[in-house]
Formats: sequence, structure tokens, C-alpha cells
Amino acid sequence: MNLSLSPEDADFLAEVQQALEPFADTRGFVVSNSTPELKAFYKALAARNWLALSWPVSAGGMGRSPVQEFLLWNEAHFRNIGRAPQGVGVVAKTIIRHGTEEQKAAWLDPIRRHDITFALAYSEPNAGSDLGSLQCKAVLEGDRYLVTGNKCWNSKAHTVDYLWLLCRTGEASSGKKGLTLLIVDAKAPGVVIRPLELMCGNMVTEIFFDRAEVPVTHRIGPENGAWRLITEALADERYVHFTPGRVRYDYFTLRRWLEEHGRLDDPSARRRMDELAVLVLQAEAHVLRLLATPGDSSGIAASNKLAHVNAIQQIARAAIALGGIEAMELDAPTSLHWRQTMTESIGGGTTEIMESIIARQRLGLAANR
Ligand SMILES: Cc1cc2nc3c(=O)[nH]c(=O)nc-3n(C[C@H](O)[C@H](O)[C@H](O)COP(=O)(O)OP(=O)(O)OC[C@H]3O[C@@H](n4cnc5c(N)ncnc54)[C@H](O)[C@@H]3O)c2cc1C
Repeated sequence: MNLSLSPEDADFLAEVQQALEPFADTRGFVVSNSTPELKAFYKALAARNWLALSWPVSAGGMGRSPVQEFLLWNEAHFRNIGRAPQGVGVVAKTIIRHGTEEQKAAWLDPIRRHDITFALAYSEPNAGSDLGSLQCKAVLEGDRYLVTGNKCWNSKAHTVDYLWLLCRTGEASSGKKGLTLLIVDAKAPGVVIRPLELMCGNMVTEIFFDRAEVPVTHRIGPENGAWRLITEALADERYVHFTPGRVRYDYFTLRRWLEEHGRLDDPSARRRMDELAVLVLQAEAHVLRLLATPGDSSGIAASNKLAHVNAIQQIARAAIALGGIEAMELDAPTSLHWRQTMTESIGGGTTEIMESIIARQRLGLAANR
């Protein structure tokens, strides 16, 4: 594993650090709702074409490496500026790989300019970890699909222009082989989106479809062939979402809070902070391994997510152990981290599902199941 950056990557990192300076107060990562400040940040990235940093040049992107894409978002997370919008990753990269020429012409430019936004509509009340059992149904009638059913826990879906919908077009018993991806106008008749506030202030939603019409031209990839597309798309995102920059940010937030409250001189606090610093380094090592592993790296990605979540949750819990009730006051950053990090072991795949992937792919257990 090469731990040093190439001269080009080091130059790019310096450019990123300079470009992010004006956005220091955005505060859009830990509570990641859409705000005017966050929108201004995305627009500034779009002006440099950095939202399409790793897209192929032929698709309007810059053709840069995963390492540079990681460096950009890792820095944005370390500064608590914001997360990558869903449209530029999962959605755009799937359209680039599987869309028709007409679909590429229609969707890619507005996405990379941040003129349109997307939310992922995969999970349902009875289908989260096991998406193969989802029930939201789309029926083709003429040149349109009629969508009926519901979705839940969709991050910020009430604020976006379009939903990236995973729905059933096959028989009820078709499992993963009967799923299709549709782009649905979030304001279309028959679509109702209700926001739900999490205890950290982040917003998710529940979505209800009642014979909502979707043009057949908004289907990406083959009917009943979405499973391969969504698993490929997950691979694109692995080094962008669970970055050590966020872990480092949480660590320094706690350190600063302890210092400001006169608690860092306590030997037990120092010892605990040293232990947590090791978890920060572990999270960094995991993502470097991920970046250095080409091809199917889902087992390593699962280890990376586990290391990331373990670190941020331990940092959040240490705040309570070391800071007591003061660290839990609602306006304390340590309290916010405690409330927010709880859901990190659910979103993007639960801890138990990550452990199953590691058992199968890295430890070779249950290989025949
Ligand atoms: C903050 C947040 C944001 C989210 N954003 C989105 C979004 O934008 N779009 C979207 O579509 N969804 C989103 N989700 C939903 C998320 O993907 C699901 O909550 C997650 O996949 C788990 O599904 P579930 O809630 O149905 O739990 P379940 O799958 O019902 O799991 C319940 C419990 O059972 C365990 N379990 C389930 N299956 C197994 C198994 N095979 N082996 C061992 N244990 C198992 C789980 O680990 C968990 O502890 C978000 C969730 C959160 C918390």
C-alpha cells in the first residue's frame, strides 16, 4: 500500500484546501439537510466541474481518479462542510454506464451543474436490508409506468427534484430479478412526500405513490434488471461516504470541547483520547486499503464502514463518559454527535449486514449460502 500522494494528487489536495476555505461555516455534514449555504457550496464545486470530477471526459466529467474524488470529499467532511449529493454519484454514474444516449444528454449536464437534485428511494417499511423483497410496484401501460406503493427513510427527499426509485416490475415472487430503476418527478401528481425529523435534526421522509405516472423514457437500464445496476453503483460510493475526515472532525471537536471545559488535563481523559486517536488512524488505514484495491472490494468496503462507525460512536460515547451531563446539553457539539452517530450504524447498510459481508467475502464463511 502506497501511503504517499503522487505530486499531482498533492497539488490537487492543496487546490481543494484553498477552494474549501470560504465554506468553513457551512456546517452541512453532521446535520446534512439542504440549506442555502450548502447549495452555494455545491454550486461553487459545479463551477469548477468538481461534482463531475471522476466522470469520464466523454460524459462531461474531468476523468480524475478515485483518489482525487476521495481527497475532495474527505476534506469537505473534515471541515463539516457537506456530503456528496446523491445525483452526482449513484444516479449519474449509473446513467453513464447504462443510460441511452438520449438519457445521457437529458440528465448529466443538469446534474453536474447542480441544477437538479435527487434522493434515493429504495427502502420500504418491510424492506431495508433485504431490498429483494420490496413491494412498491410499477405497471407499464402504453408509454408510461404507473407506480403504486410506499418508501421510507429517504434522506431529504422532500427537498429534491427527482426520486431515484427502485420498484417491482416483475411478479411479487420475483425477488431481486424483478426490480427496475425509474426516475420519478418528485412533484408529479400521485406522489406525496412527508418529512420525518431524526433526533439530530437530519430529515428523512416517507413517500407514497398512488398511480404516479412515469414516462417509459425515465427507466434507466433494462426492465427487471436493476439489481446489478444498484450493486455496481454502491461500489462507486464506497470511498466517498465513510471517510476518515469525518472521524477526525469528531475527534478534534471532542478534544476542543474537553479543553474548553478544563477536562483535558485529567490523566484518564488523556488516556482515552489517545485510544480514540488510534481509532482515527485505523479508519484512515481502512480507506487507504479500499482505494488501493481495484475490482470487487465489497468486503473491504464493509470493514471500512464498520471501522468508521465504531470510531465515531466511540468518540461520541467518550464525550459522555469524560464530559458528563454538560457534554449532553442540547447545544453542545458533543451532544449532537451522540444523537447523530446512532443512525450511522443503520444508513448505508446496518452493522450486522456489514459483518455478514465480511464473514462471507473476507473470512470465507458460509460460502455456499
Ligand atoms: C439516517 C438514515 C438515512 C437513510 N437514508 C436512506 C435513503 O436516502 N434512501 C433509502 O432508500 N433508505 C435510506 N435509509 C434506510 C436504510 O437503508 C435502512 O434503514 C437500512 O438498510 C436497514 O433497513 P431497515 O430499517 O428496514 O432494517 P431491517 O433490515 O429490518 O433490519 C432490522 C435489524 O435486523 C438486522 N438484520 C436484518 N437482516 C439481517 C440479516 N440478514 N442478518 C443479520 N441481521 C439482520 C439489521 O442489522 C437490523 O439490526 C436511511 C436510514 C437512515 C437511518
